[in-house]
Amino acid sequence: MIRTYKFRIYPSKSIQRTIEEHLNICRYLYNYLLEQKTKNPKLNKMDTQKLITEHKRENPELKKVHSKVLQMVNNKLWGNLKALGELKKNGFKVGKLRFKSSKNHYKTLEYNQSGFKIDYNTKKLKLSKIGEIPIVLHRNIKGEVKGVIIKKEPTGKWFAFFQVEEEPKPLPKTNKVVGIDLGIDGYTIDSDGNKFENPKFIDKTLDKIKRVQKNLSRKVKGSNNYKKTKLKLIKVYDKLNNQKNDFLHKLSRYYINNYDKIILEDLNIKSMVENGKCKTLNRHILDGSWRKFINLLLYKAEGAGREVILVNPHYTSKKCSNCGHVVKDLKLSDRIFFCPVCGWKIDRDYNASLNILKSGLGESVVPAERKPLLQTISYKEVVLGQVFSMNQEALPEGRGLRKPKGFRLTPSVRAE
Ligand SMILES: [Zn+2]
Repeated sequence: MIRTYKFRIYPSKSIQRTIEEHLNICRYLYNYLLEQKTKNPKLNKMDTQKLITEHKRENPELKKVHSKVLQMVNNKLWGNLKALGELKKNGFKVGKLRFKSSKNHYKTLEYNQSGFKIDYNTKKLKLSKIGEIPIVLHRNIKGEVKGVIIKKEPTGKWFAFFQVEEEPKPLPKTNKVVGIDLGIDGYTIDSDGNKFENPKFIDKTLDKIKRVQKNLSRKVKGSNNYKKTKLKLIKVYDKLNNQKNDFLHKLSRYYINNYDKIILEDLNIKSMVENGKCKTLNRHILDGSWRKFINLLLYKAEGAGREVILVNPHYTSKKCSNCGHVVKDLKLSDRIFFCPVCGWKIDRDYNASLNILKSGLGESVVPAERKPLLQTISYKEVVLGQVFSMNQEALPEGRGLRKPKGFRLTPSVRAE
């Protein structure tokens, strides 16, 4: 399996200029290949690949860039075409692939298989046709480095992302299965009756984002003050991202460590069901983080020999998890689910998680033993690593998890 490691790099001013130049050439090539493909839709990936070699003769500028990097431009184009095709297949209205008109739209250089080398002694990353860049190797890379991506983030910091082939390390079986409902109040509510609090820092940082944004709107566009405030805004977003990622990494690790099978709703179908609704900034960010959470689960599951199942979200909230009756007029504000047929009364999201578990296992399987209580776990406990029960993974940036203390649970929502 491929794992990505992120390291900070410090390119000199002149190297930065070279990288920018390479990015420009790659963007030019991307647009050129897209143009050829648009003119002649029959072209396949091999054809556009060959076009690069031919175009190099007419345009020697291209030779400034390492040949594998140019090849990855073709890869990127085909990756985008494929992603677009899949969106179409899923019923999304999508237009044609757009040309990358400004340099802000082309931000990564990708070396694959060759053209790069990490010198562990001098702590430098050597890139063919670019030069040597100081790198902070804050952790060891285990496995074979397949490629590296160079990127400047909006904060102005430069990073190298190494793609490393690693042997999967299957975890011992737990013989446990879980259904997870993704929510707003509880970030996850699962069929074992655990509710993981939605981290409050998201709200706090969002307030700050709104403040800075308001501030920015008062500044004259292009002025020094405007630029300063804009950078501030980017930095707050960056902070939010880092906090969010830390939380999501640990929460997903918790589920991977404790369950053989993890069942969730397929958000691609779900977002279509809810399409057309106006989304607030908070909701937008939450949505993005759910996707990220699922991706992290999928990614970690691959290495750990676990299974992640995505089910159709239809009726997961409206169906009674006890008898299967569908309560059609359940409102979003109804926090307690009540079934008029069998009398089952249960927290709404908990009910959904039980339905998700059922759909993932097939209707015939009834989950063993329902717990009447929902237990809330604060995000602090997640971030501090107090909820991990086994096989702790070494964390990046050297912040090891604490020894498991077992769950500290506080009963919260009572389903009477
Ligand atoms: Zn019922």
